[in-house]
Amino acid sequence: MRTHMCGELRPTDAGQTVSVCGWVASRREHGQNLAFVDVRDHTGIVQCVVDGANELRSEFVVRVTGTVRARPEGTANPNLPTGDVEVGDCTVEILSQAEPPPFPVADRVDADENLRLRHRYVDLRRPAMQRNLRLRATVSSAIRRSMEAQGFVEVETPTLIASTPEGARDFVVPSRLQPGSFYALPQSPQLFKQLLMVGGIDRYYQLARCLRDEDLRADRQFEFTQLDAEMSFADQADVIGVISATVVAAIRAAGREVADEIPRMTWREAQDRFGSDKPDVRFGMELVELTDAVAGTGFRALQAPCVKGIRVPGEAGMGRARIDRLTDQAKAAGAGGLVWLKMEGETLESPILKFLSAEEKSALPKALGAEPDDLLLVVAGERPTVDRVLGQLRLELGRPPVNEGGINLLWVTDFPLFEGLDGEGRPIPAHHPFTMPHPDDLDRLDAEPLSVRSQAYDLVLNGWELGSGSVRIHRPDIQQRIFSFLGIEPEEAQSRFGFLLDAFRHGAPPHAGFAFGIDRLVALLAGEENIREVIAFPKTQSGVDPLTGAPGPVDPRQLAELGLRVLPRPT
Ligand code: ASP
Repeated sequence: MRTHMCGELRPTDAGQTVSVCGWVASRREHGQNLAFVDVRDHTGIVQCVVDGANELRSEFVVRVTGTVRARPEGTANPNLPTGDVEVGDCTVEILSQAEPPPFPVADRVDADENLRLRHRYVDLRRPAMQRNLRLRATVSSAIRRSMEAQGFVEVETPTLIASTPEGARDFVVPSRLQPGSFYALPQSPQLFKQLLMVGGIDRYYQLARCLRDEDLRADRQFEFTQLDAEMSFADQADVIGVISATVVAAIRAAGREVADEIPRMTWREAQDRFGSDKPDVRFGMELVELTDAVAGTGFRALQAPCVKGIRVPGEAGMGRARIDRLTDQAKAAGAGGLVWLKMEGETLESPILKFLSAEEKSALPKALGAEPDDLLLVVAGERPTVDRVLGQLRLELGRPPVNEGGINLLWVTDFPLFEGLDGEGRPIPAHHPFTMPHPDDLDRLDAEPLSVRSQAYDLVLNGWELGSGSVRIHRPDIQQRIFSFLGIEPEEAQSRFGFLLDAFRHGAPPHAGFAFGIDRLVALLAGEENIREVIAFPKTQSGVDPLTGAPGPVDPRQLAELGLRVLPRPT
């Protein structure tokens, strides 16, 4: 139907008769029955000079045939790649009519999210959405090529499965053939990829769709896609090597610069320096240890097992209201309070100065490296709380916008095996229950479980957790021990994960793996704050698809077939 794409016509095409197809982006009258009609396809826009364009409306689908010519002197549009030419003497064929669009098809339109998603097919015509989805395809394809070049085999794992614990709620699907029984949708292919290792696949990968019933956020949808990988006879260093090569290849395919070597940091160091397990290393404002500087202080608020602070450059002028809000935030995050000091020029100012000794007044700013006009924030308490609170304040006060500061990848290693205790005093796995404890810490498992490190590692990009992985347990005895540690009794372990324990008794190679989120990676590469912008058909914040109306009721006959009855909503 067409000889050229709209966005590719240039002065060198002058004199050629061409046909282009696309949507009417705009129509401007040009007197004497002539109109300028801009025609858009995914490559861009070209101006067509049309005689008798009265019936043409925005978003009509047209085929235009005419002759390319240079635009008259002084009428070129430097903002358009095709701005030096136009298509003249046009014949226009209307291929499809269109209702007036619900919102203008242009970037930076302030259309309501619901309206955009309800008419996603119109929204997708916007240049930014076109760019984002194509960028996504480029990134996915580079990932596939890199994994295959490294000897990985793509294997599809099932979608209707038994539950895979990844710490989220399952989506469940009722079974018609076994009424009263349910499948779970995979939170990840975790157990299947481990079974593939027992099955001798050796190196597996998949661009896998994962489903987790959790509250939606800017960086989270119910369903997301991850590069899921697993390798046999491999350890942490092998996995980090493979995944680093792939993520670097994907970022370069997107036209962005990134170093070959990805820096590494232990989880402990990340907590100490950044108060986070996913540090945004695009900026400084690191946490500074002050415990020794105020040891023996007479000031009650600083008498605590841990005292740390951050230096906020040039913010000495911060108003009281903002500081009060930061204090409320710190308290909400568990701190007893927030101590602030200001360097008014060279002089230290603070409502708490009267409680500090002369040594403390000089030691605190010195330890924090304070310079004139800095604001200093200090938090005291238990170490994990202090780190968490200051980590949040650091982000709040220093984090650059999503599209600034380049691409900063970071491996965080040596995560703890457990992230804390649940209400019943049982440890909660920091990664998932299939993660191998650190060999040096195994003998502390019973006495001090919370101090046991795991062989789990995360990949972080500009402060976003891109993905996680671990060396897996491949011995049934250790797996059994971890299950019972987590309060999963042998019978329950057998009924939920018996197939895995069985598999481990049939010759399991040592194996390790990883998964990283493609939606998050592409969003960051596209400079988007919300992963919805890189997903063709996402859900809204409340988990609804305004386009198809999902989720919705089902036919009573369908329910009967499934042996289900819907209870009225509790009032
Ligand atoms: N299954 C994990 C996840 O989806 C990743 C992994 O351990 O390989 O987060």
